[in-house]
Amino acid sequence: MTSTLIDNIGLLVTNDPQVGTGTAERESAALVLDGGIIRWIGDSRDAPAADERVDAAGRCVIPGFVDSHSHLVFAGDRADEFEYRMAGRSYSAGGIRRTVAATREASSGALLANARRLVAEMRAQGTTTVEVKSGYGLTVSDEARSLEVAGQVTSETTFLGAHVVPPEFADDVAAYVDLVTGDMLTACAPFARWIDVFCEAGAFDVDQARAILVAGQSRGLGARMHAAQLGESAGVQLAVELDAASVDHCTFLSGADVDALGGSSTVATLLPGVEFSTRQPYPDARRLIAAGATVAIASDCNPGSSYTSSMPFCIAVAVRDLRMTPAEALWAATAGGAQALRRNDIGVIAVGKRADVVILDAPTYVHLAYRPGVPLIHRVFSHDAP
Ligand SMILES: [Zn+2]
Repeated sequence: MTSTLIDNIGLLVTNDPQVGTGTAERESAALVLDGGIIRWIGDSRDAPAADERVDAAGRCVIPGFVDSHSHLVFAGDRADEFEYRMAGRSYSAGGIRRTVAATREASSGALLANARRLVAEMRAQGTTTVEVKSGYGLTVSDEARSLEVAGQVTSETTFLGAHVVPPEFADDVAAYVDLVTGDMLTACAPFARWIDVFCEAGAFDVDQARAILVAGQSRGLGARMHAAQLGESAGVQLAVELDAASVDHCTFLSGADVDALGGSSTVATLLPGVEFSTRQPYPDARRLIAAGATVAIASDCNPGSSYTSSMPFCIAVAVRDLRMTPAEALWAATAGGAQALRRNDIGVIAVGKRADVVILDAPTYVHLAYRPGVPLIHRVFSHDAP
């Protein structure tokens, strides 16, 4: 194994509570990475020798982004739908169901190639961990193969059979919930770490969401939830009650929802790419932060409502439109995402943690929001890199 010294780091974001609050920054620092693990952190002048030296030349170094919400197993795209939506015209050609039809038609090899392409895009933009959901198969075999594909690009796999009700069950949602909690769960659980449900008007109601998450938990899957994207949802408080790792979207919250999240270990994951791409109102990050909730930011990369793979883009929107500070947004995109996946080995730069480290082509992470759309990723080190 080759050890790597990164020295002359102008600004190092550690997110390490032992170092300080929030982004817990250090100046003039150095790191040693070895065997995919961070082995040493200190002042650049005291840095030990290593097999390889990388001169950061005063740049900013941050933990790799943890994108805790994506849907990368699909076929086709919906650029036409986006174009219509931006022109203010409604488009009623089926939304998610269109992607479901294309995904069912596609070979597993084509689905894997597309997922790998998107993960490579993410990696080039500084993401070193990504969660990937199923949810465009919606049959027992198509959900299971979607998760097999997901498992080839990440260990953070989520069974989302309860994404929408497929057309063949439109008249009998209860029968579809029985399938999701029965044969589909049995087929998918071996390939999944998490179970998720879309608890929203037009998808699944709170009683159905409870049945689905409890069934998954009984098989050892961790719970997560999509809720309050389009309106207030009883799903938010259900997620807290079931100790879900995260409830995602959180765009429309009641005061009681905010209070529940503030007093819980359930992360509020905000997906600002969705509001940007659908021209919807943004969530109120300031209210969540004031209530003491843990806030994460993720891409929700999917071909319908948010086809971005870029965490820097999401940070820029979070700063401009969610009114998060650059430090809050960066923390949410790294340590916040790690908490949303209940991981303590990522999203932090500390001795013994995974060597998932990004050198920015900038003196400070503020540039991620200050210079939107500019490629600022100088180099990515990843535990998982070959
Ligand atoms: Zn989603």
